[in-house]
Amino acid sequence: MTLRLTDVQNLLIDMDGVLYRGQTALDGAAELIRFLQTRDLGYLLVTNNSTLSPVQFTERLVGMGMDVAPEHILTSGVATAEYLRTLEPNGAGVFVVGEAPLIAELEKRGFHLTGRDADYVVCGWDKGINFDKLRTATLAIRDGATFIGTNPDKTYPLENDLIPGAGALLAAISAATDVDPIIVGKPETIILEQSLHMLGADAEDTALLGDRLDTDILGGKRAGIATIMVLTGISTPDEVEASELKPDILFPDLPALLSAWREALEG
Ligand SMILES: [Mg+2]
Repeated sequence: MTLRLTDVQNLLIDMDGVLYRGQTALDGAAELIRFLQTRDLGYLLVTNNSTLSPVQFTERLVGMGMDVAPEHILTSGVATAEYLRTLEPNGAGVFVVGEAPLIAELEKRGFHLTGRDADYVVCGWDKGINFDKLRTATLAIRDGATFIGTNPDKTYPLENDLIPGAGALLAAISAATDVDPIIVGKPETIILEQSLHMLGADAEDTALLGDRLDTDILGGKRAGIATIMVLTGISTPDEVEASELKPDILFPDLPALLSAWREALEG
């Protein structure tokens, strides 16, 4: 796939490692948002993180100088609840390994929390994980509940450390049940198809901007969406060099992307 920046009408943007790292905005992040707004381009911030709601992300972003409304944010928690709604328009019983914002999105769509007799086990990142939760999730899946994962990220990057992510919890439940989850977040395509739908966009005039080969770039390829990568997050230049999987365009950082994009538009 070749990508010309002049053809990009809609941009899906990963947050962690692209717009900020930890609590710190990255160079060019606020400027990118203003650029998209001024040019009237479609944009949606798409994150695998299910532990904050869109409103909470808005608060965090505004605190870093980015004026983004909750309608422009799709979390894997919201995407998972929407996906379940398409399967069960009238709701169903769910057992959740996850945090309050994920539970709230499910309850908003008519799902009720239950235990071992759940129809679905939904697992996201849960910093309050304990043996009882793993036990109930395992028993429900062994009894026939459908196993859904918000996102596959095995680790979560802090400023200087990698700590267990949702994928590590999914792996524990998979090991105990011999069942692999249906995954909603990147690099699976459910969340990206929802993103296009929310924007009323086609894959052809959309690009995905991310920092991770194994989620953002792979997800974009699978969904037929062109990919733009910056090197301010997880994946390193050496990894991109060594990888079979390559983004359509690679920039060191957002200021480089912005200057190329402006130049392409203004000639
Ligand atoms: Mg990222």
